[in-house]
Amino acid sequence: MSRSRTSTPAQPAGPDRARRAFLRGAFLAGGADATPEPLRPPWTDDGRVLDACTRCGDCLRACPEGILIAGDGGFPEVDFGAGSGTCTFCGACAGACRAEVFEPARNPAWTVTAVISEQRCLAVAGVHCETCRDACGEAAVRFRPRLGGPPRPELEPDRCTGCGACAGTCPADAITLQPEAA
Ligand code: SF4
Ligand code: SF4
Ligand code: SF4
Repeated sequence: MSRSRTSTPAQPAGPDRARRAFLRGAFLAGGADATPEPLRPPWTDDGRVLDACTRCGDCLRACPEGILIAGDGGFPEVDFGAGSGTCTFCGACAGACRAEVFEPARNPAWTVTAVISEQRCLAVAGVHCETCRDACGEAAVRFRPRLGGPPRPELEPDRCTGCGACAGTCPADAITLQPEAA
């Protein structure tokens, strides 16, 4: 059975840093003062990127969705605020890489799932918005009717592929991609 999840994060980071982190799908691990951990391309992780990436930029140029950017130090990061804002898991980034960065046998490609911030969500604040549901091709976002206000989104993590389509289109930057709960 699918689980439903929204989150109420602790104190958000400062506005500029938090917005960058949201758009890049970065995880604010360890609290507001921690350095955001970037979301690396699919079939990779932070260790593989930092150990093996030559910063050649081939994966960035190969991505037809335009969501890969050169982040800190020139290492590739996912930015759901760039390009189409969605990963289609096409594999072009992995195919273009000449180093030992990508691990195509890794399944799933990502162990991240979307999390909706109740503090930022417009629907929770009483404004009608169902943008994330419309963007999701996996029916992972459902809206439950409620008395006295517009329906609120609920995420079904079991359906979520971490594609980022919802995060890229949310007008309130309310959605982050975060490591799946153990
Ligand atoms: S799998 Fe395709 S869409 Fe996703 S980051 Fe790689 S090249 Fe871009
Ligand atoms: S798109 Fe964003 S603001 Fe709109 S309902 Fe979904 S999470 Fe809330
Ligand atoms: S990350 Fe993709 S699959 Fe997951 S809820 Fe958002 S749009 Fe749906």
